[in-house]
Amino acid sequence: MIAAHLIQLAYLVATALFVLALKWLSHPATARRGVIAGVLGMAAAIVGTLLHPELVTYRWIAVAFVVGTIVGVPLSRVPLTAVPQRTALSHAFGGLAAGLVGTAEYVLWLDAAEPIAAFRVGAVTVEVILGFLTFTGSLMAAGKLQEVIPTRPITYKGQNVINLSLLAVAVLSGVALVVSPLTWPLFPLIVALSLVFGVLLIIPIGGADMPTVISLLNAYAGLSAVAMGFVLENKLLITAGALDGSSGLILSIIMCRAMNRSFANVLFGAFGTVRAGAAAVEERTYKSASPEDAAQILGAANLVVVIPGYGMAVSQAQHRLRELYDLLAKRGIDVRFAIHPVAGRMPGHMNVLLAEADIPYDRLFEMDDINPEMLQADVALVVGANDVVNPAARKDQHSPIYGMPIIDADKARVCLAIKRSMNPGFAGIDNELYYQDNTYMLFGDAKAVIASVVSALKE
Ligand code: NDP
Repeated sequence: MIAAHLIQLAYLVATALFVLALKWLSHPATARRGVIAGVLGMAAAIVGTLLHPELVTYRWIAVAFVVGTIVGVPLSRVPLTAVPQRTALSHAFGGLAAGLVGTAEYVLWLDAAEPIAAFRVGAVTVEVILGFLTFTGSLMAAGKLQEVIPTRPITYKGQNVINLSLLAVAVLSGVALVVSPLTWPLFPLIVALSLVFGVLLIIPIGGADMPTVISLLNAYAGLSAVAMGFVLENKLLITAGALDGSSGLILSIIMCRAMNRSFANVLFGAFGTVRAGAAAVEERTYKSASPEDAAQILGAANLVVVIPGYGMAVSQAQHRLRELYDLLAKRGIDVRFAIHPVAGRMPGHMNVLLAEADIPYDRLFEMDDINPEMLQADVALVVGANDVVNPAARKDQHSPIYGMPIIDADKARVCLAIKRSMNPGFAGIDNELYYQDNTYMLFGDAKAVIASVVSALKE
């Protein structure tokens, strides 16, 4: 009796900590507290679960604990740029766990040969479909991000019809199983179809869209946990799964909005395929500058807005950027960092990197707050950003990124753009900004270029 109360108390504490963790994680200043709350919540959930009277032995749990630790510790040490694929792997494990628990429950019911409530069979079916499709889908997503499988979208005629038909057959088999729970061959059919659907769902999506897809798979894994909660009659799984599912969905919506794209476009748009004629870019003139020129321009400015992008993450230039910030701030120059919601390759990518370099939070400005200031900026320093500063999103109705909100680097008095070449960014399109009269290209690896600008400023 006491154990039952303790379990409920642990679950209540865990739920409250999960809610607080999500709230705190949504701001850089409280994110660390959010992580701690999440860890404590998970610890309370595990302790509560281990108190269950049905547990007869801890032996297998101890084995799982050791194996999980051996796999988990190295996984936590991946570099920041590999976090999206690491997250995908975690979802894959979560989906597999949900699928296997559902399978075990069904087999136990069959063995017990007792009547099963239709609702619970329905919940098992939902759990198994979502769990197994999340498993293979997340493995594919991780493989694409790690580039162990081709990252470009693989498309063929009738693909969407085939995929949706497959899912429809899995769902109909689930309905048939609810009606006739003892028709066991339906169960392996559902499992197989879900596993195949997970693979087919990801094949037509380009590698760079994977962060959005992972966030969506996160939502599926959460819903699968909710279904598992109903199967196991565990309230914590229902609340934690609902929090996981809804936050994943909200994040996907935020990312889609920030790219001005719909879910359908991400899932079926095959974004990232080489567009016909893309190679035939006309020759246009642009100006380039040396790090010394850039140091002079920066040194004479009152307001500098730094706009980091994917290139900063690739070259790990954030620490050099911190040195530049210190030097300019010491001279009384107002330096602000403009954060585009989808700069880089995962939400919050720039915030994390800049926080790693100890750039003060109050120097970070969201897109909507910095854009009205851009006309007053003396210099827009673009560090490895491309699509998120492309004025075509505002001006060119035929551009694939038309309508995507951007940071208005083109409105600053001078724009300094650091990148290695005139190659396009993720969207594969030319950037008008680089050909403007007041734009100077600083060619080279971002880290090396900023280091040279810092040396020039010191001299
Ligand atoms: P982009 O991918 O548009 O551009 C990055 C630029 O960085 C490239 O033009 C590249 O040019 C340059 N670069 C690469 N390596 C280096 C280096 N070592 N040193 C200097 N420059 C380098 O990045 P943005 O951040 O501007 O935009 C993000 C894009 O990703 C958007 O299109 C967004 O929609 C998409 N996206 C973002 C997601 C997110 O959650 N953040 C999720 C899914 C998609 P060069 O090769 O010439 O050096």
